[in-house]
Amino acid sequence: MKKQICILGSTGSIGTQALDIIAQHSDLYEVYALTANNRVDELAAQARRFHPAAVVIANETHYERLKNALADEPDIKVYAGQSALDEIVEAEPIDMVLTAMVGFAGLAPTIHAIRSHKKICLANKETLVVAGELICRLAQEYHVPIIPVDSEHSAIFQCLTGEGDNEIDKILLTASGGPFRLFTKEQMSRVTAADALKHPTWEMGAKITIDSASMMNKGFEVIEAKWLFGVPVKRIQVLVHPQSIVHSAVQFCDGSVKAQLGMPDMRLPIQYAFSFPDRLPLDGQRLDLFRQPLEFFEPDLDKFRCLALAFEAIHRGGNMPCILNAANEIVNEAFRQARCSFIAMADIIEKTMERVVFDANPTYETYIQTDQEARRIAREMVG
Ligand code: NAD
Ligand code: MG
Repeated sequence: MKKQICILGSTGSIGTQALDIIAQHSDLYEVYALTANNRVDELAAQARRFHPAAVVIANETHYERLKNALADEPDIKVYAGQSALDEIVEAEPIDMVLTAMVGFAGLAPTIHAIRSHKKICLANKETLVVAGELICRLAQEYHVPIIPVDSEHSAIFQCLTGEGDNEIDKILLTASGGPFRLFTKEQMSRVTAADALKHPTWEMGAKITIDSASMMNKGFEVIEAKWLFGVPVKRIQVLVHPQSIVHSAVQFCDGSVKAQLGMPDMRLPIQYAFSFPDRLPLDGQRLDLFRQPLEFFEPDLDKFRCLALAFEAIHRGGNMPCILNAANEIVNEAFRQARCSFIAMADIIEKTMERVVFDANPTYETYIQTDQEARRIAREMVG
């Protein structure tokens, strides 16, 4: 029986690479549902090629266009709206849900998928940043595996495979350092979105590329690692590794360090999340260590203030990471639209963290309210 996959965010960077994997292993995997937010034409083209049972366009205003584009494909059901995402993940035949959409919007469908006992292949890290405690509790309660797709977390997951309950001494989480690694603070005050979108090693969607340039992405990944692997933050060390070859490593209680290495290619962690515990063949460039220097540096928290703010948010706990995420979504978009400078992003996030009411024991409803409140405050400051 082929595994039935639902891809949330199939038109994005992760989504399209996932479809490439599915096409290469069509004997093992089949697409059950595809979803997107705005890109109607891409979604329709994907549906024609992969013949899913259903497609969902989250932005309802595009429903008619999508319906018309697939008028000659009567077997493909067409739905629209954010709540249609929550419903589609529950469909009985689905085995796994790849959460490859951006931002807070991933939280609700992920919860629905867990409650419907679907294996989660998690790319949408914002879900764990916002509500890691809740998601992990639900995953345990419903006995649902959450397999990381983020390359660093996939690396850690691969290092931990076969280790049972062996004690972790520390997690070595690598970061490329982004395009501004060697910039002075003064140079950073003048960078534009176009500069920030030139990532040195990875090709990704716009939002995460900006998060990588500010290193907020690494802060998010510390939080993600804490929840996925149950390791306290003081045991997670960030290492700037400009080559992006060592995807991350784990040091065990006997001092042994296991790392996972490879060329930067997201198709590997996506495929591994689908096939775990098996490995499947994958084409692509192979690592040649003769040609590959490996360097490691300490991150500069004074220059990359978003990373420092993420550490503070985890330290405070409760709804603080949710505030961090919401404010970041607002300033990230504002920076891309040239409505906010690169360094003002950290200022606005910091002030939002001071102003939104802190809640040490948030529920799902708290997260929804916190997200809205933090967005409102951050938006006001962007102006
Ligand atoms: P992207 O911008 O390329 O694609 C996002 C996808 O999500 C699109 O299909 C879009 O239509 C959909 N989408 C966006 N907003 C939505 C909403 N409100 N409701 C429903 N659908 C929505 O993004 P990406 O780079 O593929 O990243 C997706 C997720 O994976 C992010 O959480 C990111 O942090 C994570 N991730 C990405 C990479 C990477 O290499 N791209 C690596 C690690 C983790
Ligand atoms: Mg990553």
